[in-house]
Amino acid sequence: MVTRILDAEKGLDEAVSLLKAGELVAFPTETVYGLGADAFNGDAVKKIFEAKGRPQDNPLIVHIASVEQAAEVARDIPDEFYILAREFMPGPLTVVLPKSDAVPGVVTAGGDTVAVRMPSHPVARRLIAASMPLAAPSANRSKHISPTTARHVLDDLDGRVPLILDGGECGVGIESTVLDLTSAVPTVLRPGAVTEEMIAELLGKVGSLSPGAVIGRAKSPGMKYTHYAPSVPAVVAMSEEAALARYDEIAAAGGRPVLLMTEPHRAAAGGRAFISLGEDAVDYMRLFYAAMREAESARDYIIIEGLTGGGEARSIMNRVLKSSGGNVIG
Ligand code: AMP
Ligand code: MG
Repeated sequence: MVTRILDAEKGLDEAVSLLKAGELVAFPTETVYGLGADAFNGDAVKKIFEAKGRPQDNPLIVHIASVEQAAEVARDIPDEFYILAREFMPGPLTVVLPKSDAVPGVVTAGGDTVAVRMPSHPVARRLIAASMPLAAPSANRSKHISPTTARHVLDDLDGRVPLILDGGECGVGIESTVLDLTSAVPTVLRPGAVTEEMIAELLGKVGSLSPGAVIGRAKSPGMKYTHYAPSVPAVVAMSEEAALARYDEIAAAGGRPVLLMTEPHRAAAGGRAFISLGEDAVDYMRLFYAAMREAESARDYIIIEGLTGGGEARSIMNRVLKSSGGNVIG
């Protein structure tokens, strides 16, 4: 199969035709690029798992173009959904709801709940509005780093998908927050740019699952898999001293390490290889995956700045820890 990249404006009509014919289209969202298929067409959705090499028991998120469309894919929708929707939809928040019969089991890994999100990216919104709700995971090979540009998608899925819509760089940079509204207490299954603190402000009590606690839970089977992994070793450094010491150690042994750090650390890094994560947590979130892809292609050992605290920092660290296999120093 030949994979084409088209400017999102020019390629929209063709993308809609492909989706209606049961084919896949990669498209930009504000979080990361998605690989979409008609959420009501089980055969089309199966192609997503094949193209990505994704395990069948890892469920997909259904992307909708309006709050009303949630009723097409979910049932018994609680008030909390509409309270959250007023504040965060469209946006980087996914909500787990009871599934409607219209959604085939392949989308939900056989489960009776469905994850629903309304993306804010204009291309994603227009694409869904002109076609149908789209089942879509991130548009990377399973377990690899999520894509934040059309080029990243091509690097992972060339020859495996017919069309990639290019809508530039993603603005948020990590996957959506996943919030389960089918449990007794609303529970964050995956942290993201919509933080636990923001949700708690609206809903009151909110629970969260530590990554370790999720393993083996039927509720979110996909969370047991390795994610976001680069092709070279990576370590998280909780202090500048630890980062620089590890760098020098690896370099002295003949390795080619690189520091992934925010600008305040650039001066101390001196002449060492350095990829910038910007000025603050919001920059870090947006730039992290692209920095990881650049690092793995140019160097052979990645040293990542660790963050402490809640809010965005906690969501970033969730991805950083998975990317490094939980390998933390200093
Ligand atoms: P991805 O789009 O590749 O980041 O994967 C989607 C993720 O959403 C899955 O790995 C799960 O963590 C989560 N998810 C999707 N559907 C459900 C569901 N029905 N229940 C719980 N979590 C879900
Ligand atoms: Mg993914």
